[in-house]
Amino acid sequence: MIIRGCSSQPTSAPRSCFSTLFLLPNSNRYSFKKRATTLKHELDVVSCRFNSPPTNFRIQALEANKLDGVKAEGSRTNLQYDHLTWPSPSDKVPFWKREFPSWDISDSGHVDIRKDSDPIHIIHVTAEMAPIAKVGGLGDVVTGLARACLTRGHTVDVFLPFYECINKQHVKELTLISTYGSYHDGSWIPTNVYRGVVFGIPVVFIEPTNHFFKGQSVYGGSYDELEAYLFFSRACLEWLQVSATQPDIIHVHEWQTAGLPLLYWDMYQYLSLQKPRIVLTIHNMEHYGECRQEQLNKCGLDGSVYSTEEKAMDDRTIGHNPERLSLLKGGIVYSNAVVTVSPTYLKETLNSGWLAATLIRHRDKYFGILNGIDTAIWNPATDAFLPAKFDANQIEGKKICKLYVQRGLGLAPEAQDSAKVPLVVCITRLVAQKGLHLITNAIRHVEALNGQMIILGTAPDARVGSEFEGLARLHNEGPSIRILQMYSEELSHMLYAAADIVLVPSIYEPCGLSQMIGMRYGAVPLVRKTGGLADTVFDMDDQSHSEIANGFVFEGIDEGSLNCTLDRAFSFYHEKPNEWRDTVKKVLQMDNSWNNAAGKYIDVYNNVRVKHH
Ligand code: ADP
Repeated sequence: MIIRGCSSQPTSAPRSCFSTLFLLPNSNRYSFKKRATTLKHELDVVSCRFNSPPTNFRIQALEANKLDGVKAEGSRTNLQYDHLTWPSPSDKVPFWKREFPSWDISDSGHVDIRKDSDPIHIIHVTAEMAPIAKVGGLGDVVTGLARACLTRGHTVDVFLPFYECINKQHVKELTLISTYGSYHDGSWIPTNVYRGVVFGIPVVFIEPTNHFFKGQSVYGGSYDELEAYLFFSRACLEWLQVSATQPDIIHVHEWQTAGLPLLYWDMYQYLSLQKPRIVLTIHNMEHYGECRQEQLNKCGLDGSVYSTEEKAMDDRTIGHNPERLSLLKGGIVYSNAVVTVSPTYLKETLNSGWLAATLIRHRDKYFGILNGIDTAIWNPATDAFLPAKFDANQIEGKKICKLYVQRGLGLAPEAQDSAKVPLVVCITRLVAQKGLHLITNAIRHVEALNGQMIILGTAPDARVGSEFEGLARLHNEGPSIRILQMYSEELSHMLYAAADIVLVPSIYEPCGLSQMIGMRYGAVPLVRKTGGLADTVFDMDDQSHSEIANGFVFEGIDEGSLNCTLDRAFSFYHEKPNEWRDTVKKVLQMDNSWNNAAGKYIDVYNNVRVKHH
């Protein structure tokens, strides 16, 4: 990666310048012989007794070694199945809300990863962090990248709003360290600052004593989000000043913290902060951070100063009255380096979209770095939420996971190998970007192909939510489709593990983690060729790239393109079981970890940091 050396200033930053809505059949309980000799036998029993009277059951001494000739993974695992309490749709506590062994991967850094010779101090300023404040991929990326940089010997802190919804049990060593004042709209808001540790990452929590960040979810509280995140951006800089902390890099993410570079270069540089340089990662260009001048005024900047095309004027509003600002555009102009989350998305964003002109102007400091996934958080061999663990060498646990999910959700379990049913899983925010018409079409087509499909998603838009509620009412009592409108980290892990196919039919997708996580859990991806999906999934039927082929890809945004590809994937699954198994093993072994990508970020950090201060 060639990165031009950067001057201390950004290239042209002008200096002053579900209700658990799945209506499951509550009579579908299973009864099983206490001791089944083979899983096939077990499956036959499941199938015969699918409508038998309710009873909880346990499978004892499942001989997983007879599954498809795969060798048993030893007594430890069989013992594990001995004690498996199989779920049922009528369980009082749904299986994804059971108590799980503690989920802490703090110490699971990669010991064999070499330390970088020249440590950097990086502070992420972000609206999301997995798992305590995660809505989508942003939360995963911050946690994964921070952990990878820590492993390589760098100093990393994450600054996060102290959302009321954060489950404090997940934060170790949580301590109030100070209360200071941070500016908002003419007054100084008493602000508490806490320290804590999440998955081994030091986190600074910023808690204003006003109404900001109160509510039951990360986004959508009863406060002005734009003003709250502008406040947060300034409060982070203010805390660095108060605590006399000067990191090498302040790494901001998305529109929520894209106002920070403006505050840094036009305010805090004139106060006491001089050393930090700013890196902005854009995870999704469609969220501009549209901002009125008077909103920007509230954080102490003069909004009128930024109202030019070269600075932060929102190009979509030129000629409108009033013209408005885009925090994301301002962040691009004022940051020392701008990164987006895949090489293909980088090209796409230079070719189209309202920010293309700005990105072209700043091309020299604009990079595409493919996201990784945190392979300790996402590890089917150790995952605390899975009823059975597995990896590429010991794959039979995946079948247990599939059966477990099928039983738990009341889906018809597979009767025998000759009647295998491919399970398609789609875990996503239910928003237009994700290809909603393709997802709803997939429900119909998978059902027509006698497959099974589970959708786990949340819809921020009430109309989309009610459309999927209608589909849930239509399908959720049948044997093959479940539409679960809710957010559940635990269930997402189980679904990736259960899935034969992970579906990502996005209209556009900056990177996409779902397909990478799916592969990590042995699910073959079926994706639309766009953005990061095009950089990570290569079609099985493309002979020119057979060595990297790992899934099924379609290009059109029409239902026909998706249907053909589902047909191809289902035929492959049914007609070439050995090749399918090889593909599952291949995707399980792929390295989409953060280590490689973190190295590219460290190159960026090194090129913009001030070496001798
Ligand atoms: P985006 O960031 O656009 O939402 P990504 O594919 O990059 O899409 O990341 C989505 C992340 O959020 C993945 O970790 C996915 O498993 C998770 N996710 C999405 N919806 C849900 C949900 N309803 N419940 C649990 N996890 C979800």
